[in-house]
Amino acid sequence: MARRIAIVGASMGGLRAAEQLRSAGWEEEILVIGGEIHPPYNRPPLSKELLKSPGSIQEALAAVTLRQRRTATGIDWKLGAPVTGADLKGRTLTLATGEQLGYDGLVVATGLRPARVRVPGPLHGRHVIRTLENSLGLHRELQPDARIVVVGAGFIGCEAAATATLLGCRVTLIEGSSGPMQRTLGRELSEGMRSFLTQRGVECISGERVAAFTWNDDGAGGTQRCTGVRLAGGREVQADAVIEAVGSQPNVEWLAGNGLDLSDGVLCDGHLRVLGTEHVVAVGDVARYPDRRTGTGPRRVEHWATPADTAKIAAPALVAGLNGTETPEPVAPLPAFWTDIFGIRVQGVGSPAVADRIEVLEGDPSRPADGAALAYYLGGRLIGAVTSALPADRQLHYRKLVTEAGLLASSQLAAV
Ligand SMILES: Cc1cc2nc3c(=O)[nH]c(=O)nc-3n(C[C@H](O)[C@H](O)[C@H](O)COP(=O)(O)OP(=O)(O)OC[C@H]3O[C@@H](n4cnc5c(N)ncnc54)[C@H](O)[C@@H]3O)c2cc1C
Repeated sequence: MARRIAIVGASMGGLRAAEQLRSAGWEEEILVIGGEIHPPYNRPPLSKELLKSPGSIQEALAAVTLRQRRTATGIDWKLGAPVTGADLKGRTLTLATGEQLGYDGLVVATGLRPARVRVPGPLHGRHVIRTLENSLGLHRELQPDARIVVVGAGFIGCEAAATATLLGCRVTLIEGSSGPMQRTLGRELSEGMRSFLTQRGVECISGERVAAFTWNDDGAGGTQRCTGVRLAGGREVQADAVIEAVGSQPNVEWLAGNGLDLSDGVLCDGHLRVLGTEHVVAVGDVARYPDRRTGTGPRRVEHWATPADTAKIAAPALVAGLNGTETPEPVAPLPAFWTDIFGIRVQGVGSPAVADRIEVLEGDPSRPADGAALAYYLGGRLIGAVTSALPADRQLHYRKLVTEAGLLASSQLAAV
């Protein structure tokens, strides 16, 4: 009987894992089980071009659906079927329908869901952006002159603020404890991005947190609808819709009860094998793995390139484990990300978020739209670079510098 590798999560991580399993020589069954009803789709447009102009659901889906590699054949899909539990010793998955499925190898690819602002209030009128439906539902609220409050100034919050402004909305961005995208970009470039957002019409409120939502009945049968936020400093900001962009939570509950470290995603070794298990690997946003470029210990990396990078390591390791062959030495992925805000592209490589020193290499970060590049160091080693509004060749140049800065030896890594 053919052995089965089950992949839980049918988004980019699930798709890339299936493709890489075939590339690694796995010719037996691959079953991808996904909670969403859609085939794998691309999420970055959900806060950018698709949020601006989605068209019908069919058009939107066609615009974002990911293509499966032609060489990756014979993959079975079970969509709209959330997995609610796993018995890793018995190698059995339980689906929301009650159905049980056995497997020989398992890939965890369940990604993240948005965190919510933890103060009471009705959900009506409040939005998050992770799924196609989220983006389409939010788009309907972004009417010219609508008052939109965005809570959280990370990448998704800043992108949504820019998109809503381009659609003619009046946008207030509540930054929270750090400035726009500051955790990744650092203070100087973040301040430049704040000026840029402000010049384009976004009102940025710094150093404030939401203490309460305000709401009223919309008159249609007494449904309560959010009408804005009250800030800890006392100010009230009225809104026709609120966007919550305050981070995310890994989808790991279905793995509970198996003795795993699920404190922040799924803890893996350098081969993406889930620690404390046999024949289980993790890929994409949910995987927490050691970083050979910074030595800062296991981290999750929430970027578009991560599903493909991690699948290239995880799939051969899983196949080698199942076939009893030698596990190939893993390549160390170089994280890469980008964001598009009011027509300027900010691109990064490496791990700028863990830097202890930042140096301006080119341009002026206080004017990001005019072009800038920054280098990020940890303990004197170059570990990342970010460019803003620079041509592709400059970006490639900085990418090369970070690549050449090299890897740490295994002995220098934080213990895993
Ligand atoms: C709005 C938005 C904009 C972004 N923009 C950028 C950008 O500009 N640049 C960039 O680098 N990155 C960006 N990203 C990040 C990038 O899209 C993610 O890193 C990538 O989607 C991660 O893919 P994944 O497959 O690991 O996880 P996900 O895409 O989260 O997929 C996980 C899948 O697993 C399913 N699932 C969860 N639990 C279960 C379960 N129990 N059973 C079955 N299925 C389950 C989920 O429904 C989902 O379909 C953006 C993300 C978002 C949301």
